[in-house]
Amino acid sequence: MAMKDLAPDSWLQELPRQLQALHDQHLLRTRRRVAPRQGAHITVDGETMLQFCSNDYLGLARHPALIEAARQGALEFGVGSGGSPMVSGHSTANAELETALSSYVQLPRALYFYAGFATNASVIPALVGEGDEIFSDALNHASLIDGCRLSRASIRRYPHADLAALERLLAASAGRRKLVVSDAVYSMDGDVADIPGLLALCERHDALLMLDDAHGLGVRGPQGRGSLAAVGLTGAHASPRLLYMGTLGKAAGVAGAFVAGSAPLVEWLLQRTRSYTFATAAPGLLARALLASLAAMEQSDSLRSHLQARIAQLRAGLAPLSAAMGWRLLPSETPIQALVIGDNATALQLMAALSRQAIWVPAIRPPTVPAGTARLRIALSACHTSEDIERLLQALKAAAGVLPGWHEEA
Ligand SMILES: *Cc1c(COP(=O)(O)O)cnc(C)c1O
Repeated sequence: MAMKDLAPDSWLQELPRQLQALHDQHLLRTRRRVAPRQGAHITVDGETMLQFCSNDYLGLARHPALIEAARQGALEFGVGSGGSPMVSGHSTANAELETALSSYVQLPRALYFYAGFATNASVIPALVGEGDEIFSDALNHASLIDGCRLSRASIRRYPHADLAALERLLAASAGRRKLVVSDAVYSMDGDVADIPGLLALCERHDALLMLDDAHGLGVRGPQGRGSLAAVGLTGAHASPRLLYMGTLGKAAGVAGAFVAGSAPLVEWLLQRTRSYTFATAAPGLLARALLASLAAMEQSDSLRSHLQARIAQLRAGLAPLSAAMGWRLLPSETPIQALVIGDNATALQLMAALSRQAIWVPAIRPPTVPAGTARLRIALSACHTSEDIERLLQALKAAAGVLPGWHEEA
């Protein structure tokens, strides 16, 4: 559709040049049109591919019980909530979900949000502000980083997982209130935070610990209760200085997020979190799907052990190849397996070579990851069969063969 011309000196004329620059640096992002097929297969722009890029770690997004619950929820509540939770949007299903979430993660109280990004971006400013200090792991998710910035507290970024550095910063802090913020499972590397270590530091320095368990809920801990349960810090062992945040669009297979913790902490967030108060509440049909999802996650031990077996299979197969190619398979016991290639163009070349073999593994580039660490981010799920993993390994080997540096005898 044609439009009017811009004035030649308008700053908006810079946008096409900036886009061209992104393109030239291999940083232009594009979207593909995706539809689900069987198992871990999807169609991408009409072509069937084996995907290694979904956060639906247990395959619950298409679970019949969740679909049926959503359908019944739509019949009962309609498809939209029609209001913010403080006015008319807090449905009986949403209320029931909060109780179920708190009992699933074994923390006193939970508050259900419509989206994870907005939760992090607005929960942090509800907790701290000017005169306070935030301590943030260098690999934290973008939503946590935005929340820190929005809060106007001073931000101290500590090197990834470096608790000694964190301790020095906490000891030197003059902040009135101190908040330590971290992913529980780091979303681009797949490694896990030392939660007891973080909590011990928070106790020593009167800080609050906020943990984002987007990639741990449903996957880690007994019955998938998450990264806190995995280290026994729930129930009677839960700490009042810990705020747990989980998202519901990954292993839970639906959408949304929640925070959980002590009753006063959660009540404070209910009073003060802008993205809660000023956003339309999540539709009741999603809460119904999520109630079914919590039940399914609790009963999915066999899916979790299948997933662990696929992770072990992939890592065993990748070790010799990455050694031969000078790639780096980052340590990870989670479904996120990062194969660091190095430069953007090579990572993209590998992605393209896999894609020609109908396998979709995303190449992740800066600024999502630090410069020089472009990678293939392989996400596994309980939908993958051992044949799927084998197919990926063979395809990667074939792709490596067309790159310089690969010797077949290695
Ligand atoms: C995906 C993700 C979020 C955002 O959650 P959404 O519900 O997708 O908005 C927040 N934190 C981490 C670590 C994530 O991976």
